[in-house]
Amino acid sequence: MSDANIVVVGSSNMDIFFYTDRMPEPGETVIGNRYWMAMGGKGANQAVGSRLLGAEVTLVGQVGDDLFGRRMLDNFSSHGIACDHIQVDKEADSGVALILVDKQAENSIVVVPGVNMRISPADVEAAANKLRAADVLLMQLEIPLDAIQRAVDIAHEGSTLCVLNPAPARPLPDCILEKVHLLTPNQSEARVLTDIPADTLEGAEAAGQALLDKGVQTVIITLGAQGALIVRPDQTLHVEGVRVDALDTTGAGDAFMAGLAVALAEGQTLEEATRFANVAGALSTQKPGAMPSLPTRDEVEAFARTLVA
Ligand code: ADP
Repeated sequence: MSDANIVVVGSSNMDIFFYTDRMPEPGETVIGNRYWMAMGGKGANQAVGSRLLGAEVTLVGQVGDDLFGRRMLDNFSSHGIACDHIQVDKEADSGVALILVDKQAENSIVVVPGVNMRISPADVEAAANKLRAADVLLMQLEIPLDAIQRAVDIAHEGSTLCVLNPAPARPLPDCILEKVHLLTPNQSEARVLTDIPADTLEGAEAAGQALLDKGVQTVIITLGAQGALIVRPDQTLHVEGVRVDALDTTGAGDAFMAGLAVALAEGQTLEEATRFANVAGALSTQKPGAMPSLPTRDEVEAFARTLVA
């Protein structure tokens, strides 16, 4: 289906949703209505998303030696993701997010990153051969920066395309930015990285240019329903979003990243890959949740055919 080979270095969490009529006050206990668990974490989402789009995927990460860790490993294996570089850490707990959702769909969230913050340069080094052999290295910012730095260095020395999705937003040192081939902030992340408001096309282009000035080769700023803006030294290109009635945009960024990484790994051009990613992102808004909303290759191709028909 695809000859894309992708290595994701990133986080995995178990997300536990508690649904309640109203949030508890400090010190109060309330009786909830139901709960639901789903695997999450941006690394896991983008790894599973890439796999569903047909790529061969290796995840470099950590889970705890606990119930959630075993459940996550089973889930990765059942998707056909290579798990030989997922460490089972006996010293810390799996990453967990507890999400309280009230009747108005307001949420309050506590995230315990656990083992995700113990992913180390040595873990990345152990996967160096896989990383060098990959078409694309895909990363996010839910793990320590020194592990990201090591992965960026290895990709930079070889021919692996280094893609960094700077989410959740945090300032990044130039020594990482100057070795990243492709940086993909959304509009609010672009603002955190540059201090330039990126909520208009002009603002997004200015933020993109500021990131190019720091040494990034290409910036793609995602624009929600408006699609994405490709900013390169020689050219800026707006790739329009796909028109859908969005139901839940959670996970749209992860679906977009999976689409982008897979299409680039297959050798598609930046513009083609961004179109493909826009379809994946739009499709993910048709279902609730993050990982459960990630589209398959067949779904993306069938939907893309309706757009050209
Ligand atoms: P994030 O989810 O990280 O905040 P965006 O909101 O920019 O990032 O969404 C990522 C991508 O998902 C967009 O570039 C677009 O391709 C797609 N997308 C998001 N929201 C919509 C929408 N309402 N309609 C169509 N596509 C969407």
